[in-house]
Formats: sequence, structure tokens, C-alpha cells
Amino acid sequence: MNPATRLVHGAHREDPYSASAPPLYQTATFAQSRSDAFDEFDYTRTDNPTRRWLEAELAQLERGHGALAYASGMAAVAAALRRVAPGERLLVGDDLYGGTERFLALRESEGVIVERVDTTRPEEVRVALPGARMLYLETPSNPRMEVSDLAALGRLCRRSGTKLVVDNTMLSPWIQQPIELGADLVIQSCTKHLSGHSDLVAGAIIARSPEDLEALAFERNASGTALAPFDSWLLLRGMKTLGVRMERAQATARTLAEKLAAHPKVTRVRYPGVGSVLGFETGDRKLSEALVEQTKLFSIAVSFGGVASSISLPCAMSHASVPTERQRKAPLPPDLVRLAVGLEDGLDLWADLARVFDGLPGRLGVERAHEAVRLHGE
Ligand SMILES: *Cc1c(COP(=O)(O)O)cnc(C)c1O
Repeated sequence: MNPATRLVHGAHREDPYSASAPPLYQTATFAQSRSDAFDEFDYTRTDNPTRRWLEAELAQLERGHGALAYASGMAAVAAALRRVAPGERLLVGDDLYGGTERFLALRESEGVIVERVDTTRPEEVRVALPGARMLYLETPSNPRMEVSDLAALGRLCRRSGTKLVVDNTMLSPWIQQPIELGADLVIQSCTKHLSGHSDLVAGAIIARSPEDLEALAFERNASGTALAPFDSWLLLRGMKTLGVRMERAQATARTLAEKLAAHPKVTRVRYPGVGSVLGFETGDRKLSEALVEQTKLFSIAVSFGGVASSISLPCAMSHASVPTERQRKAPLPPDLVRLAVGLEDGLDLWADLARVFDGLPGRLGVERAHEAVRLHGE
């Protein structure tokens, strides 16, 4: 099956009533038929039919042996990073999600040796790899939008016996399947593209091997971080349209990237050619702030992957809390604007940006002008 068909028909699950949509098993416990043995399901923290249906779909989409759904993307990130013990070396990419940075600081305080490496340079990774337990990265990274060669990194990690873990949230399995390129574990914040509607928080780990899956399932049951049945059900619903949403948002992102690149007030566009998130610089912090504050269709928000577009200034928002000593690379440009493109009409989105570029007053501009008049009057 091709991916579009796969999304609609899903992983094959048996239902006694042939339900068209996955049934929601909103239950904590399952009665057992005997006192001395467990049936297929016994307690929802451990396993639940709705969540299992979701996990079968996630595993199929990411081409893994199996998947585990977690209460958030961060719960999935944390479960993966806890596979490295104190005293062991953990290599990480140098442009990571802010929440992941926060968890890494915690792991460091527990004695894990965290080392940063530029994963866009396989040669640098090759030198750093020997003896490392895990290499953890995002590609394209956010917000710098830098691309790493996963196939090359996969070969290097196999040679040195290092686990390769890829946070694939930015592109979703619709566009990239890191396991096919050599990753051992893939992480998804399902809060983003997979859900697609900004109405739930969820995460997943997809594993290449049965051994990794089993160890992670044991840990998830022990720590109680599994996704609730209702959120599993809601996520299954959102995932049906992943393909059409990604194609539409990506087409609009490409159009906006082209128009921005041709605009005289834009100094640099950061767009890897795939996905729905892009960045651009204006060389003028005030103009970048005006764009963020005065566009009407883009809400000021740090997330992505929803139906509505959003805009942010990463330097002042999502990455403001990342200490400079952790930023191995040059600090983020203060004028970098990030767009997360949704499902609106692309020309409407462009008109909204162009209006602010042209210095025409926006909603906020008008309100501020009124405020200034009132203040003067008082
Ligand atoms: C949002 C995000 C996370 C964290 O996911 P939550 O569902 O918010 O906990 C992790 N990695 C990336 C790349 C993200 O964008």
C-alpha cells in the first residue's frame, strides 16, 4: 500500500462488530477470566485496545517494528534519553527543541556526559562517535532549519555500535522515515502534524528492534507515562488526514518561501524545500517584530502542525530560555522570524505578510495609534 492508502485503511485491526472507526475503550481495567492468569488486556496503564490500534498505525507509518504512545512528546523524548545511564556519553545535535534542552540539563545533573556535535558534518560526528551510547538529533533542525544526512549518520552509528535516535516531529512520517535510513528509535511529538488540529498533547517512540521496544514498554509501564485512551482515539482521527494536510501546507510553504526570497526586505530564507515550517531574516529586528505582531492571519504561537498558521520570533520566544553557553553555534539571529504554515489560502497569507512589509497599518497598529491619541488626550 502507498502511504495515502495506508493512512485511510490503517493497520489491520480486528473488531468484533466491524466498526469503520476505531472503538474507544475508555476503561481503566479489564476483568480477567481466571484468577491465576492474565488475559490479553488487564490494565490501561500497561495496554489498551484503542492505544494499541494507534501504535500499530504509528509503527506502520514510520516503518518500525512497533510503537509506544506517550502522554506527550516530552514523555517520549525523556523515555528515549533515559536509555543512557550516568557515566555514559550521549552525543546530541546542537540545534534542538527547547524542552529537550531542559531535559538534557537534568540528565547532565544526574551524571550523563552530554556532548554537542554538528550533525550536519558527518566527519565531525565520526570523530566523536567511538564509545558514545547514543546520538540524538533533529533534522531539519528548528529553528535553524539545517539538514543532516541521516543515511550517512546511520552507517557511522552502526559501525560504532551507537544507538541513533531521531526526533522526526518537524517533517512527520509523511515526508521522512528515519528508520529506513538507519535510525534505531524515532520520536514524534504527535501534538504537531500527526494530530494536526492543536487539540491534544501526545508523543510516540517508534522502534526498529523488538528488544528496544520491549525495554521501552517495560519502562513506560513502570513509570506510567502512556497516552490515555481518549487522546489515542482523537489522534487516530487526526492522522487519517495527515497526507492531505501535509501536502497542502507544504505547497503553501513553498510558495511563501519563493515570494519571501524575492522580496527586497528579506535578507535570508531558511527553508529546506520540504515541510511546512520556514524561517526568514530581515536584517531589521523592528521590522521582524512588526511582522510578528501585525499580521492578522498568523497567530503568535510557538507550535506548528495545526490547521491555523502561526508566526514567532524564536530568539525572544521558544529559544529565549536556551542559555548561550548551550548554543554551540553562533546565537540565533534576533531578526529571525519563523512561520508555521497551516491550511489557509496561500495568497491570503502572502497578502497579510506583504501588507506589513509595505508599512501599512495592521490591526495592532491601528489599536496602538488609538491608544497614543487617548494617552495624549489625558
Ligand atoms: C513540540 C516538540 C516536542 C515536545 O512535544 P510535546 O508534545 O509538546 O511534549 C519535542 N520535539 C519537537 C521537535 C517538538 O516540536
